[in-house]
Amino acid sequence: GSAGRLVVVSNRLPSGDSPSGGLVVALKDSLQRTGGLWIGHSDKGDTGAGSLSFHQGGGFGRASFTLNGAVYDNYYLGFSNTVLWPAFHGRADLMRIAPEYLQAYRRANSRIAKLMIPHLRTADRIWVQDYHLLPLASELRLQGFAGRIGLFLHIPFPSLADCAALPNPADLFEWLSHYDLVGFQTRRDLVNFEDCSSRLSRVQRLDDQRFRLCERKLRVGVFPIGIDSLGFMDEARNADIEDRMRSLTYSSMMIGVERLDYSKGIPQKFRALQTLLENHPELIEKVDLLQVAPPTREDVSAYRDIREETEHLAGRINGKFATVNWTPIRYIHRAIPRNELAGLYRQARVGLVTPLADGMNLVAKEYVAAQDVGNPGVLILSRFAGAAETMQSALIVNPHDPVEMAEAMHRALEMPADERRRRHLALLQEVLEHDVGWWSSSYLATLG
Ligand code: UDP
Repeated sequence: GSAGRLVVVSNRLPSGDSPSGGLVVALKDSLQRTGGLWIGHSDKGDTGAGSLSFHQGGGFGRASFTLNGAVYDNYYLGFSNTVLWPAFHGRADLMRIAPEYLQAYRRANSRIAKLMIPHLRTADRIWVQDYHLLPLASELRLQGFAGRIGLFLHIPFPSLADCAALPNPADLFEWLSHYDLVGFQTRRDLVNFEDCSSRLSRVQRLDDQRFRLCERKLRVGVFPIGIDSLGFMDEARNADIEDRMRSLTYSSMMIGVERLDYSKGIPQKFRALQTLLENHPELIEKVDLLQVAPPTREDVSAYRDIREETEHLAGRINGKFATVNWTPIRYIHRAIPRNELAGLYRQARVGLVTPLADGMNLVAKEYVAAQDVGNPGVLILSRFAGAAETMQSALIVNPHDPVEMAEAMHRALEMPADERRRRHLALLQEVLEHDVGWWSSSYLATLG
Protein backbone atom coordinates (compact mmCIF):
# COMPACT_ATOMS: atom_id res chain seq x y z
CA GLY A 1 0.00 0.00 0.00
CA SER A 2 2.95 2.44 0.26
CA ALA A 3 2.56 3.68 -3.34
CA GLY A 4 -0.86 5.23 -2.66
CA ARG A 5 -1.69 8.36 -0.75
CA LEU A 6 -3.08 8.42 2.76
CA VAL A 7 -6.46 10.16 2.87
CA VAL A 8 -7.71 10.94 6.38
CA VAL A 9 -11.35 11.91 6.91
CA SER A 10 -12.67 13.35 10.18
CA ASN A 11 -15.69 15.42 11.13
CA ARG A 12 -13.55 18.47 11.85
CA LEU A 13 -10.72 19.59 9.59
CA PRO A 14 -7.63 20.46 11.68
CA SER A 15 -6.73 24.10 11.28
CA GLY A 16 -3.58 25.09 9.43
CA ASP A 17 -2.04 27.29 12.12
CA SER A 18 -3.16 26.43 15.68
CA PRO A 19 -0.88 24.27 17.87
CA SER A 20 -1.33 20.76 16.56
CA GLY A 21 -3.11 18.04 18.48
CA GLY A 22 -1.67 14.54 18.84
CA LEU A 23 -3.61 13.13 15.90
CA VAL A 24 -2.13 15.70 13.52
CA VAL A 25 1.38 15.10 14.87
CA ALA A 26 0.91 11.36 14.30
CA LEU A 27 -0.43 11.56 10.78
CA LYS A 28 1.56 14.49 9.40
CA ASP A 29 4.53 12.36 8.34
CA SER A 30 2.45 9.80 6.44
CA LEU A 31 0.38 12.57 4.86
CA GLN A 32 3.48 14.47 3.75
CA ARG A 33 5.36 11.39 2.59
CA THR A 34 2.49 10.12 0.43
CA GLY A 35 1.32 13.54 -0.77
CA GLY A 36 -1.85 12.78 1.13
CA LEU A 37 -4.93 14.70 2.07
CA TRP A 38 -6.99 15.42 5.20
CA ILE A 39 -10.68 15.99 4.59
CA GLY A 40 -13.06 17.43 7.16
CA HIS A 41 -15.96 19.76 7.80
CA SER A 42 -15.55 23.51 7.86
CA ASP A 43 -18.35 25.98 8.53
CA LYS A 44 -16.58 28.70 6.59
CA GLY A 45 -17.54 28.42 2.99
CA ASP A 46 -20.39 28.18 0.57
CA THR A 47 -22.75 25.49 1.87
CA GLY A 48 -24.00 24.83 -1.62
CA ALA A 49 -20.48 24.27 -3.01
CA GLY A 50 -20.53 21.21 -5.21
CA SER A 51 -16.89 20.38 -4.53
CA LEU A 52 -14.30 20.23 -1.78
CA SER A 53 -12.45 23.46 -0.94
CA PHE A 54 -8.67 23.21 -0.71
CA HIS A 55 -6.71 25.09 1.96
CA GLN A 56 -3.17 26.35 2.45
CA GLY A 57 -1.12 25.67 5.55
CA GLY A 58 -0.59 22.82 7.97
CA GLY A 59 2.18 21.16 5.93
CA PHE A 60 -0.08 18.69 4.12
CA GLY A 61 -3.09 18.79 1.82
CA ARG A 62 -6.28 19.91 3.53
CA ALA A 63 -9.72 19.99 1.96
CA SER A 64 -13.06 20.86 3.51
CA PHE A 65 -16.70 20.18 2.85
CA THR A 66 -19.67 22.22 4.03
CA LEU A 67 -23.17 21.03 4.79
CA ASN A 68 -26.47 22.84 4.80
CA GLY A 69 -27.05 24.17 8.35
CA ALA A 70 -30.10 22.05 9.14
CA VAL A 71 -28.48 18.89 7.75
CA TYR A 72 -25.32 19.59 9.74
CA ASP A 73 -27.25 20.09 12.99
CA ASN A 74 -29.27 16.90 12.54
CA TYR A 75 -26.17 14.93 11.52
CA TYR A 76 -23.78 16.33 14.13
CA LEU A 77 -25.80 17.46 17.16
CA GLY A 78 -28.66 15.10 16.29
CA PHE A 79 -27.63 11.62 15.24
CA SER A 80 -23.94 11.77 16.20
CA ASN A 81 -24.28 13.43 19.59
CA THR A 82 -27.86 12.72 20.69
CA VAL A 83 -28.06 9.10 19.52
CA LEU A 84 -24.64 7.52 18.96
CA TRP A 85 -22.65 9.32 21.67
CA PRO A 86 -25.02 8.51 24.57
CA ALA A 87 -25.66 4.91 23.42
CA PHE A 88 -21.94 4.24 22.93
CA HIS A 89 -21.19 5.69 26.39
CA GLY A 90 -23.70 3.54 28.28
CA ARG A 91 -26.40 6.25 28.43
CA ALA A 92 -29.08 4.99 26.05
CA ASP A 93 -31.52 6.70 28.44
CA LEU A 94 -30.22 10.07 27.18
CA MET A 95 -30.83 9.26 23.50
CA ARG A 96 -33.41 11.30 21.60
CA ILE A 97 -34.43 9.27 18.59
CA ALA A 98 -35.88 11.23 15.68
CA PRO A 99 -36.20 10.03 12.07
CA GLU A 100 -34.73 13.27 10.71
CA TYR A 101 -31.50 12.67 12.64
CA LEU A 102 -30.83 9.32 10.98
CA GLN A 103 -31.87 10.70 7.61
CA ALA A 104 -29.48 13.67 7.89
CA TYR A 105 -26.67 11.37 9.12
CA ARG A 106 -27.06 9.21 6.03
CA ARG A 107 -27.40 12.23 3.77
CA ALA A 108 -24.31 13.94 5.19
CA ASN A 109 -22.19 10.81 4.74
CA SER A 110 -23.48 10.29 1.23
CA ARG A 111 -22.64 13.89 0.33
CA ILE A 112 -19.15 13.68 1.84
CA ALA A 113 -18.52 10.53 -0.23
CA LYS A 114 -19.81 12.25 -3.36
CA LEU A 115 -17.51 15.24 -2.81
CA MET A 116 -14.53 12.94 -2.19
CA ILE A 117 -14.94 10.65 -5.21
CA PRO A 118 -13.55 13.00 -7.93
CA HIS A 119 -10.39 13.51 -5.85
CA LEU A 120 -9.66 9.85 -5.10
CA ARG A 121 -7.22 7.55 -6.88
CA THR A 122 -7.46 3.77 -6.92
CA ALA A 123 -4.25 3.31 -4.92
CA ASP A 124 -5.32 5.71 -2.12
CA ARG A 125 -5.88 4.36 1.38
CA ILE A 126 -8.68 6.07 3.26
CA TRP A 127 -8.61 6.30 7.04
CA VAL A 128 -11.95 7.37 8.51
CA GLN A 129 -11.93 8.78 12.05
CA ASP A 130 -14.74 8.14 14.49
CA TYR A 131 -18.47 7.84 14.98
CA HIS A 132 -19.64 10.75 12.85
CA LEU A 133 -18.70 8.91 9.68
CA LEU A 134 -19.67 5.26 10.23
CA PRO A 135 -21.56 4.93 6.88
CA LEU A 136 -18.81 6.59 4.84
CA ALA A 137 -17.29 3.34 3.54
CA SER A 138 -20.65 1.99 2.41
CA GLU A 139 -21.31 5.28 0.57
CA LEU A 140 -17.85 5.31 -1.03
CA ARG A 141 -18.34 1.69 -2.16
CA LEU A 142 -21.75 2.52 -3.59
CA GLN A 143 -20.18 5.35 -5.54
CA GLY A 144 -17.44 3.13 -6.95
CA PHE A 145 -14.34 3.42 -4.74
CA ALA A 146 -12.70 -0.01 -4.49
CA GLY A 147 -9.48 0.83 -2.60
CA ARG A 148 -8.70 0.25 1.05
CA ILE A 149 -10.84 1.95 3.70
CA GLY A 150 -10.25 1.74 7.43
CA LEU A 151 -12.18 3.10 10.39
CA PHE A 152 -10.90 3.92 13.85
CA LEU A 153 -13.56 4.25 16.53
CA HIS A 154 -12.27 6.70 19.18
CA ILE A 155 -15.24 6.12 21.52
CA PRO A 156 -16.25 2.85 23.22
CA PHE A 157 -18.21 0.18 21.38
CA PRO A 158 -21.55 -0.22 23.21
CA SER A 159 -22.68 -3.15 25.27
CA LEU A 160 -25.45 -5.35 23.90
CA ALA A 161 -28.19 -3.56 25.86
CA ASP A 162 -27.16 -0.13 24.58
CA CYS A 163 -26.59 -1.36 21.04
CA ALA A 164 -30.06 -2.90 20.95
CA ALA A 165 -31.52 0.47 22.00
CA LEU A 166 -30.24 2.18 18.82
CA PRO A 167 -32.92 2.99 16.26
CA ASN A 168 -31.05 0.93 13.66
CA PRO A 169 -28.79 -1.73 15.18
CA ALA A 170 -28.67 -3.81 11.99
CA ASP A 171 -27.59 -0.76 9.93
CA LEU A 172 -24.64 -0.24 12.23
CA PHE A 173 -23.17 -3.63 11.29
CA GLU A 174 -24.01 -3.17 7.63
CA TRP A 175 -22.08 0.15 7.71
CA LEU A 176 -19.09 -1.42 9.46
CA SER A 177 -19.00 -4.39 7.07
CA HIS A 178 -17.81 -2.16 4.19
CA TYR A 179 -14.51 -1.35 5.89
CA ASP A 180 -11.35 -3.41 5.40
CA LEU A 181 -10.26 -2.72 8.99
CA VAL A 182 -12.14 -1.48 12.03
CA GLY A 183 -9.88 -0.44 14.91
CA PHE A 184 -11.01 -0.24 18.54
CA GLN A 185 -9.40 1.37 21.59
CA THR A 186 -9.57 -1.65 23.92
CA ARG A 187 -10.17 -5.40 24.14
CA ARG A 188 -13.45 -4.62 25.90
CA ASP A 189 -14.70 -2.75 22.81
CA LEU A 190 -13.76 -5.67 20.59
CA VAL A 191 -15.60 -8.09 22.88
CA ASN A 192 -18.68 -5.82 22.80
CA PHE A 193 -18.48 -5.70 19.02
CA GLU A 194 -18.38 -9.51 18.82
CA ASP A 195 -21.20 -9.85 21.30
CA CYS A 196 -23.45 -7.27 19.61
CA SER A 197 -22.77 -8.39 16.05
CA SER A 198 -23.49 -12.02 16.88
CA ARG A 199 -26.83 -11.09 18.48
CA LEU A 200 -27.97 -8.29 16.20
CA SER A 201 -26.45 -9.12 12.81
CA ARG A 202 -25.05 -11.93 10.68
CA VAL A 203 -21.48 -12.61 11.67
CA GLN A 204 -19.08 -15.53 11.47
CA ARG A 205 -15.64 -15.56 13.04
CA LEU A 206 -12.93 -16.56 10.55
CA ASP A 207 -9.91 -16.25 12.85
CA ASP A 208 -8.55 -14.07 15.63
CA GLN A 209 -8.85 -10.84 13.69
CA ARG A 210 -11.21 -11.64 10.86
CA PHE A 211 -14.96 -11.87 10.60
CA ARG A 212 -17.45 -12.44 7.87
CA LEU A 213 -20.00 -9.70 8.58
CA CYS A 214 -23.06 -9.18 6.35
CA GLU A 215 -21.41 -11.42 3.71
CA ARG A 216 -18.23 -9.31 3.60
CA LYS A 217 -14.80 -9.92 5.11
CA LEU A 218 -13.79 -7.53 7.86
CA ARG A 219 -10.60 -7.28 9.83
CA VAL A 220 -10.68 -5.91 13.37
CA GLY A 221 -7.97 -4.94 15.84
CA VAL A 222 -7.22 -3.17 19.10
CA PHE A 223 -5.07 -0.04 18.79
CA PRO A 224 -5.10 2.04 22.00
CA ILE A 225 -4.46 5.65 20.98
CA GLY A 226 -1.63 7.55 22.66
CA ILE A 227 -0.35 11.10 22.85
CA ASP A 228 2.72 12.87 21.46
CA SER A 229 4.53 11.77 24.63
CA LEU A 230 7.96 13.31 24.08
CA GLY A 231 6.43 16.57 22.85
CA PHE A 232 4.17 16.74 25.89
CA MET A 233 7.04 16.01 28.31
CA ASP A 234 8.86 18.99 26.80
CA GLU A 235 5.83 21.26 27.16
CA ALA A 236 5.51 20.32 30.83
CA ARG A 237 9.22 20.88 31.57
CA ASN A 238 9.15 24.28 29.87
CA ALA A 239 6.00 25.29 31.74
CA ASP A 240 7.69 24.19 34.96
CA ILE A 241 10.60 26.57 34.45
CA GLU A 242 8.24 29.48 33.82
CA ASP A 243 6.23 28.64 36.93
CA ARG A 244 9.33 28.49 39.14
CA MET A 245 10.26 31.96 37.99
CA ARG A 246 6.79 33.14 38.96
CA SER A 247 7.38 31.43 42.36
CA LEU A 248 3.96 29.86 42.77
CA THR A 249 2.92 28.64 46.16
CA TYR A 250 2.38 24.89 46.08
CA SER A 251 -0.59 23.46 47.91
CA SER A 252 -1.85 19.89 47.66
CA MET A 253 -3.66 20.40 44.41
CA MET A 254 -5.68 17.71 42.71
CA ILE A 255 -6.61 18.31 39.08
CA GLY A 256 -9.44 17.25 36.79
CA VAL A 257 -9.58 18.23 33.11
CA GLU A 258 -12.43 17.25 30.83
CA ARG A 259 -15.14 18.67 28.59
CA LEU A 260 -18.31 19.18 30.63
CA ASP A 261 -19.77 15.89 29.36
CA TYR A 262 -22.05 13.53 31.29
CA SER A 263 -19.70 10.64 30.46
CA LYS A 264 -16.85 12.20 32.42
CA GLY A 265 -18.21 11.66 35.95
CA ILE A 266 -17.59 15.19 37.24
CA PRO A 267 -20.46 15.18 39.80
CA GLN A 268 -19.27 11.79 41.09
CA LYS A 269 -15.79 13.27 41.52
CA PHE A 270 -17.17 16.27 43.42
CA ARG A 271 -19.19 13.99 45.72
CA ALA A 272 -16.07 11.92 46.39
CA LEU A 273 -14.23 15.12 47.34
CA GLN A 274 -17.05 15.91 49.75
CA THR A 275 -16.68 12.43 51.29
CA LEU A 276 -12.92 12.99 51.57
CA LEU A 277 -13.42 16.25 53.48
CA GLU A 278 -16.07 14.70 55.72
CA ASN A 279 -14.00 11.62 56.53
CA HIS A 280 -10.66 13.45 56.77
CA PRO A 281 -11.41 16.94 58.14
CA GLU A 282 -7.67 17.46 58.75
CA LEU A 283 -7.43 18.01 54.96
CA ILE A 284 -9.59 21.14 55.11
CA GLU A 285 -7.47 24.09 53.90
CA LYS A 286 -4.79 21.56 52.87
CA VAL A 287 -6.10 20.10 49.63
CA ASP A 288 -8.12 21.45 46.75
CA LEU A 289 -9.44 20.38 43.37
CA LEU A 290 -8.79 22.42 40.24
CA GLN A 291 -11.54 21.36 37.84
CA VAL A 292 -11.17 22.53 34.25
CA ALA A 293 -14.44 21.74 32.44
CA PRO A 294 -14.86 23.61 29.15
CA PRO A 295 -18.30 23.83 27.53
CA THR A 296 -19.21 21.35 24.82
CA ARG A 297 -22.29 20.64 22.64
CA GLU A 298 -24.34 23.23 24.51
CA ASP A 299 -27.22 22.95 22.06
CA VAL A 300 -27.97 19.41 23.30
CA SER A 301 -30.25 19.41 26.35
CA ALA A 302 -28.39 16.67 28.25
CA TYR A 303 -25.38 19.01 28.29
CA ARG A 304 -27.40 21.82 29.83
CA ASP A 305 -28.52 19.39 32.53
CA ILE A 306 -25.00 18.21 33.39
CA ARG A 307 -23.87 21.84 33.61
CA GLU A 308 -26.70 22.66 36.04
CA GLU A 309 -25.88 19.62 38.17
CA THR A 310 -22.14 20.30 38.18
CA GLU A 311 -22.42 23.97 39.05
CA HIS A 312 -25.04 23.35 41.71
CA LEU A 313 -22.85 20.74 43.36
CA ALA A 314 -19.67 22.85 43.19
CA GLY A 315 -21.54 25.75 44.80
CA ARG A 316 -22.98 23.54 47.52
CA ILE A 317 -19.68 21.86 48.40
CA ASN A 318 -17.79 25.16 48.35
CA GLY A 319 -20.49 26.76 50.49
CA LYS A 320 -20.31 23.93 52.98
CA PHE A 321 -16.52 23.62 53.39
CA ALA A 322 -14.92 26.91 52.30
CA THR A 323 -13.09 29.06 54.84
CA VAL A 324 -12.12 32.70 54.47
CA ASN A 325 -8.74 31.57 53.10
CA TRP A 326 -9.67 28.58 50.98
CA THR A 327 -12.22 26.95 48.70
CA PRO A 328 -12.19 23.22 48.00
CA ILE A 329 -13.18 23.42 44.31
CA ARG A 330 -11.82 25.85 41.75
CA TYR A 331 -14.16 25.31 38.84
CA ILE A 332 -13.24 26.77 35.44
CA HIS A 333 -15.87 26.56 32.70
CA ARG A 334 -13.48 27.52 29.90
CA ALA A 335 -10.91 25.71 27.76
CA ILE A 336 -7.28 26.11 28.79
CA PRO A 337 -4.63 25.71 26.06
CA ARG A 338 -2.86 22.37 26.17
CA ASN A 339 0.59 23.87 26.83
CA GLU A 340 -0.77 25.62 29.93
CA LEU A 341 -2.45 22.42 31.05
CA ALA A 342 0.95 20.71 30.90
CA GLY A 343 2.28 23.02 33.62
CA LEU A 344 -0.86 22.59 35.76
CA TYR A 345 -0.69 18.79 35.54
CA ARG A 346 2.90 18.94 36.71
CA GLN A 347 2.00 20.99 39.78
CA ALA A 348 -0.89 18.73 40.77
CA ARG A 349 -0.16 16.07 43.39
CA VAL A 350 -3.07 13.99 42.13
CA GLY A 351 -4.58 13.59 38.65
CA LEU A 352 -8.26 12.65 38.87
CA VAL A 353 -9.45 10.91 35.71
CA THR A 354 -12.71 9.29 36.73
CA PRO A 355 -15.10 8.99 33.75
CA LEU A 356 -18.14 6.72 33.83
CA ALA A 357 -17.30 5.70 30.25
CA ASP A 358 -14.49 6.84 27.95
CA GLY A 359 -12.95 5.48 24.75
CA MET A 360 -9.39 6.07 25.97
CA ASN A 361 -8.94 9.37 27.87
CA LEU A 362 -5.86 11.25 26.77
CA VAL A 363 -5.77 13.44 29.87
CA ALA A 364 -4.65 10.35 31.85
CA LYS A 365 -1.65 9.98 29.52
CA GLU A 366 -0.89 13.70 29.49
CA TYR A 367 -0.91 13.80 33.29
CA VAL A 368 1.67 11.01 33.42
CA ALA A 369 3.89 12.56 30.73
CA ALA A 370 3.82 15.93 32.52
CA GLN A 371 5.16 14.70 35.90
CA ASP A 372 8.59 15.40 37.33
CA VAL A 373 10.11 11.87 37.38
CA GLY A 374 11.96 12.61 40.63
CA ASN A 375 8.83 13.74 42.47
CA PRO A 376 5.78 12.60 40.50
CA GLY A 377 2.11 12.98 41.36
CA VAL A 378 -0.35 10.09 41.52
CA LEU A 379 -2.89 9.18 38.83
CA ILE A 380 -6.35 8.06 40.00
CA LEU A 381 -8.04 6.37 37.07
CA SER A 382 -11.54 5.04 36.54
CA ARG A 383 -11.78 1.40 35.51
CA PHE A 384 -14.24 2.61 32.85
CA ALA A 385 -11.65 4.68 30.97
CA GLY A 386 -10.14 2.80 28.03
CA ALA A 387 -6.77 3.90 29.44
CA ALA A 388 -7.29 1.61 32.46
CA GLU A 389 -6.64 -1.44 30.27
CA THR A 390 -2.97 -0.50 29.86
CA MET A 391 -2.41 1.79 32.88
CA GLN A 392 -2.86 -0.63 35.76
CA SER A 393 -0.16 1.07 37.85
CA ALA A 394 -2.53 3.96 38.48
CA LEU A 395 -4.88 3.79 41.47
CA ILE A 396 -7.84 2.20 39.72
CA VAL A 397 -11.26 3.18 41.09
CA ASN A 398 -14.96 2.67 40.57
CA PRO A 399 -16.28 6.22 40.02
CA HIS A 400 -19.75 5.24 41.26
CA ASP A 401 -18.36 4.56 44.76
CA PRO A 402 -17.65 7.84 46.62
CA VAL A 403 -16.00 6.15 49.61
CA GLU A 404 -13.64 4.12 47.45
CA MET A 405 -12.75 7.26 45.48
CA ALA A 406 -12.24 9.33 48.64
CA GLU A 407 -9.94 6.65 50.07
CA ALA A 408 -7.96 6.57 46.81
CA MET A 409 -7.55 10.37 47.05
CA HIS A 410 -6.38 10.04 50.64
CA ARG A 411 -3.97 7.27 49.74
CA ALA A 412 -2.62 9.30 46.79
CA LEU A 413 -2.06 12.38 48.96
CA GLU A 414 -0.21 10.32 51.56
CA MET A 415 1.71 8.07 49.18
CA PRO A 416 5.45 7.81 49.95
CA ALA A 417 7.83 9.08 47.27
CA ASP A 418 9.27 5.67 46.42
CA GLU A 419 5.84 4.20 45.68
CA ARG A 420 4.90 7.28 43.65
CA ARG A 421 8.09 6.94 41.60
CA ARG A 422 7.60 3.20 41.07
CA ARG A 423 4.03 3.59 39.85
CA HIS A 424 4.86 6.63 37.75
CA LEU A 425 7.81 4.96 36.04
CA ALA A 426 5.66 1.99 34.99
CA LEU A 427 3.00 4.37 33.62
CA LEU A 428 5.53 6.59 31.86
CA GLN A 429 7.12 3.60 30.12
CA GLU A 430 3.70 2.61 28.80
CA VAL A 431 2.90 6.18 27.67
CA LEU A 432 6.26 6.46 25.90
CA GLU A 433 6.13 3.04 24.26
CA HIS A 434 2.57 3.35 23.01
CA ASP A 435 2.52 6.95 21.86
CA VAL A 436 0.40 8.32 19.05
CA GLY A 437 3.12 7.54 16.50
CA TRP A 438 2.99 3.87 17.51
CA TRP A 439 -0.79 3.98 17.25
CA SER A 440 -0.92 5.35 13.70
CA SER A 441 1.90 3.20 12.35
CA SER A 442 0.52 -0.03 13.79
CA TYR A 443 -2.96 0.78 12.51
CA LEU A 444 -1.72 1.66 9.01
CA ALA A 445 0.55 -1.40 8.88
CA THR A 446 -2.50 -3.57 9.62
CA LEU A 447 -4.67 -1.75 7.09
CA GLY A 448 -1.97 -2.65 4.54
N1 UDP B 1 -8.06 19.85 26.54
C1 UDP B 1 -7.56 21.11 26.35
N2 UDP B 1 -8.05 22.14 27.08
C2 UDP B 1 -9.05 21.99 27.99
C3 UDP B 1 -9.57 20.68 28.20
C4 UDP B 1 -9.05 19.64 27.46
O1 UDP B 1 -6.64 21.30 25.52
O2 UDP B 1 -9.47 22.97 28.61
C5 UDP B 1 -7.50 18.73 25.78
C6 UDP B 1 -6.76 17.74 26.66
O3 UDP B 1 -5.46 18.19 26.92
C7 UDP B 1 -6.82 16.47 25.82
C8 UDP B 1 -8.15 16.61 25.07
O4 UDP B 1 -8.53 17.97 25.17
O5 UDP B 1 -5.77 16.43 24.89
C9 UDP B 1 -9.24 15.72 25.64
O6 UDP B 1 -9.05 14.40 25.21
P1 UDP B 1 -9.67 13.18 26.02
O7 UDP B 1 -9.31 11.93 25.29
O8 UDP B 1 -9.22 13.20 27.44
O9 UDP B 1 -11.24 13.44 26.02
P2 UDP B 1 -12.31 13.82 24.88
O10 UDP B 1 -12.55 15.29 25.00
O11 UDP B 1 -11.70 13.43 23.56
O12 UDP B 1 -13.55 13.04 25.24
